[in-house]
Amino acid sequence: MKCFMYSIEWQKRGLPHVHLLLWLMEKLRPNQIEEIISAEIPNLETDRKLYDTVTKNMIPGPCGVLNPSSLCMKDGKCTKKYPRGLLKDTKTKYRVYPLYRCRAPEDGGHTLAQKTRSGIQEILVDNSWIVPYSPLLSKIFN
Ligand SMILES: [Zn+2]
Repeated sequence: MKCFMYSIEWQKRGLPHVHLLLWLMEKLRPNQIEEIISAEIPNLETDRKLYDTVTKNMIPGPCGVLNPSSLCMKDGKCTKKYPRGLLKDTKTKYRVYPLYRCRAPEDGGHTLAQKTRSGIQEILVDNSWIVPYSPLLSKIFN
């Protein structure tokens, strides 16, 4: 690693979180990005601990048509852009943020049934609802 910078945000609602930029000595290839950042539901069978952390902390909402009164909704749209589009493979472009792999169930992505915050409705959550996370840091800090 060449250098880093970060900022920790302490919000009124939700957990404190970090915005982190790393400059690496060598450029990563798309298949290496997925080892560092994931935007998918972990495999319950092979990584229970990470699955529990991600499904507890990295799924916003639901919002959109499932919950139009969610706090993130403005003018009928989610201000955080969830649910996001599904993507079979990570895509990179020069000087642009990568688009992380976010597989559909038919491409091998996992799903889970989750109750809404009101507890009344149960929805099927796929990878389009997952906030990108670091598997390593998520495992260390839960
Ligand atoms: Zn939303």
